[in-house]
Amino acid sequence: KMANETLKAQLGNAAWRLFHTILARYPDAPSKQEQSTLSQYIHLFAQVYPCGDCARHFQQLLAKYPPQTKSRKTAALWGCHVHNKVNERLGKDEYDCTTILEDYDCGCGSDEKELDA
Ligand code: FAD
Repeated sequence: KMANETLKAQLGNAAWRLFHTILARYPDAPSKQEQSTLSQYIHLFAQVYPCGDCARHFQQLLAKYPPQTKSRKTAALWGCHVHNKVNERLGKDEYDCTTILEDYDCGCGSDEKELDA
């Protein structure tokens, strides 16, 4: 029982890290195609997430709070808010979303510099 809880927490940690890092690297001014891709990715993520209860609850959250895909900032803030909804349900502290973009660095910052060059 304890081991299962640990595994579920590790999976959650890894999943949230990837989730927030993708949003923090999403374009500032996405095309319609990029907006559609992100929205689909998030809905598919909610369907394949390998914890049945979590997936079901997260799909309900997405129905109530649809992904905001207009810009990097709105997407990242939206992601922070839905994670806070999950935190709330699990009795965890609310996370401060004000520095969300700085909090999730993929370590691939030079990619953007190369594009600018
Ligand atoms: P996590 O919630 O895993 O967060 C990891 C780190 O992210 C934190 O240490 C903090 O640094 C940062 N963080 C915290 N809040 C935010 C935020 N709002 N925005 C950005 N960064 C933040 N577990 C269940 O038991 N039941 C469920 O129904 C459930 N549903 C889930 C649904 C999804 C889609 C996911 C990805 C996970 C779900 N989990 C669920 C797992 C749960 O959310 C946690 O990942 C797990 O309990 C471990 O919690 P944690 O305290 O280590 O922090």
